[in-house]
This record gives sequence, structure tokens and C-alpha cells, in this order.
Amino acid sequence: MTADTIDLTPYSGVEADAAWRDEVRELARRRDAVLLAHNYQLPEIQDIADHTGDSLALSRIAASSSASTIIFCGVHFMAETAKILSPEKTVLIPDERAGCSLADSITGAELRAWKAEHPGAVVVSYVNTTAEVKAETDICCTSSNAVDVVASIPADREVLFLPDQFLGAHVKRETGRENMHIWAGECHVHAGINGPELAERAAANPEADLFIHPECGCATSALYLAGEGIVAPERVKILSTGDMVTQARATKAKSVLVATEIGMIHQLRKAAPDVEFAAVNDRASCRYMKMITPAALLRSLRENRDEVHVDPETAARARGAVQRMIEIGQPGGGE
Ligand code: SF4
Repeated sequence: MTADTIDLTPYSGVEADAAWRDEVRELARRRDAVLLAHNYQLPEIQDIADHTGDSLALSRIAASSSASTIIFCGVHFMAETAKILSPEKTVLIPDERAGCSLADSITGAELRAWKAEHPGAVVVSYVNTTAEVKAETDICCTSSNAVDVVASIPADREVLFLPDQFLGAHVKRETGRENMHIWAGECHVHAGINGPELAERAAANPEADLFIHPECGCATSALYLAGEGIVAPERVKILSTGDMVTQARATKAKSVLVATEIGMIHQLRKAAPDVEFAAVNDRASCRYMKMITPAALLRSLRENRDEVHVDPETAARARGAVQRMIEIGQPGGGE
């Protein structure tokens, strides 16, 4: 069955009620499956998962889990990364159509052509890439360690950074590196969170902290606002989604403006129930993440779908770059 012909109609009425929770838990137990959910998943999916986190934390859990099956409630490149790290495990994604516009912004062929223009350059890829692109990569990075990774590369080596232009601009600014080329990719959700919107919200909430994911179109604006003294620099925090949860527990602010996909708000409210969290753009919802519905999760467990395969040769070539990311990433990282 191809991605376009999946029929979820028999499950379309499935609600996240007590019977659904019981069946999901029972089927997961019988299948020896661990349920992993990304921070941008629907609240009911986050709540039933064994682990909720960012892509780096979930990759680590996938690699170390003793379960024979991984149900990855996230987008396809994340499930692929789990398969690259654990080729002997069965990896399922509840709906294989859950892609990522950022990962789709560069193909393996495009990267090979770019490398040919810059022989000898070191390729640094953000984790939001396909297995084929990871196989062409020297080192994968997360938003937490991207600056350190690029800074660790000898100054005379050219760097090709991909696929996100906003994260790339952040890294270039932080490292001051001139010989760094940045692919012009973007996530349609994060790019939609823009500077003027952030400035307006920050002005209307002068006491609020600002939690900003570096993939956001507004990350540069946030640093500009801080630099100009329009927003106090200590209020602006550029954070991965994992670090947002840590920072939510530590903040002294009564309210926080959050610039990333809106699913994140659910985890933040759970982490710090006394803090008021609001989205900078409450339309910033990733339709791919939201394809993992309660119905799709149940179908995945009942029918053993959709299994994720990565060609073994591609996986072998990609594994080194991903393992380096896992080894040097700080706790909390990635999208
Ligand atoms: S929010 Fe953007 S980067 Fe994240 S999965 Fe969706 S499309 Fe990809």
C-alpha cells in the first residue's frame, strides 16, 4: 500500500478515551513495544507515550531501549534515525505520510552536487534530514550543539551547513565563521513565526520571558531586539525544545512567550503549571506532526504499521554521523 492509499476510515471515530488508552497500553505490552512521542505531538499522544522529548533525547532512548519494537510518534526522519541506530528492531510510525518540509528541502543528489562544488568541505547536517542525506554527512548536529560542532572544525576547512537557513545564520553569527556555506532550507511552520509578530507580543508582555527555537524566522529578530535594548537580553532565551522544558522549571518569570510549534506548550504547562505559557503564533501547527492521531496509533499497534525501512548500506553510511551527534549532544537538543 502506498502512502497515498492509506485508509484510516475504520478508525476515524476513535477518541482518546479510557478504552483507547487501555487498548493502546495492552497492545504495546503484548508487542514488547516502547512508545516514543515528540514534543510537537497531540496532547493525548504525548500523555500515553512511555517517553516524550525532542528528537535527540528520543534517538538516545531508541538506541538504548531493550524493547524489540519502537512505535515512533513523530515524523518520518525521526523514525528513520531510530532505525539507523537500531537496525535489529522493528520501527513503526503510525502514519508514514508524516514527513517534514525542512528534511524535504534537500535531497541526497542535491547534497552530492553541492559537495562537488566545495571539495574538502566538512558537511554538518541538522538532524532534520533524510537517511540518504545523513549518509552523505560528516557530522549531524542538534540545535543545542550546532555551534560547538562548527567551532570544533579546523578554521581553514570550509563548512557546508544544512538544511535550515535560520539555524545556520545563528551558528554563523555565534562562531563568526566566514567560510561557512548555508543551505537555504526552512520549515514552513517555524518560518511563519516572524519578527514583527514577536516584537508586538514582546511589547505587549513586558514581563514575559521569550523562549525561542533557533529554527524560527524570528530568532534573528529576537537577538536584534535584545541588542537594541527593546527587550532585556536576559529575557531572550534561544533554546532547543528539550532545553525549553528544563528552562520552564527554572524560570522566575510569571509568563513566557514561546516561539516554536504549538504542541510544545503542553509539555511546558506540565513541567511548570504555575507559569503562564503563550504561543507567539498560535497558528504555528505542524500538519505532519498532527497526522499521528489516536486512531492512527491504535491502527499501528493493531496492524503492525507503518514499518520503517532504511536500506542497510545507507544506514551503515549514516550511522557514524548520527552516533557522533548522540555522543557530543548535551542532554536536550534537536527540534
Ligand atoms: S515543525 Fe517543521 S521542522 Fe518540525 S517536523 Fe514539522 S515541518 Fe518539519
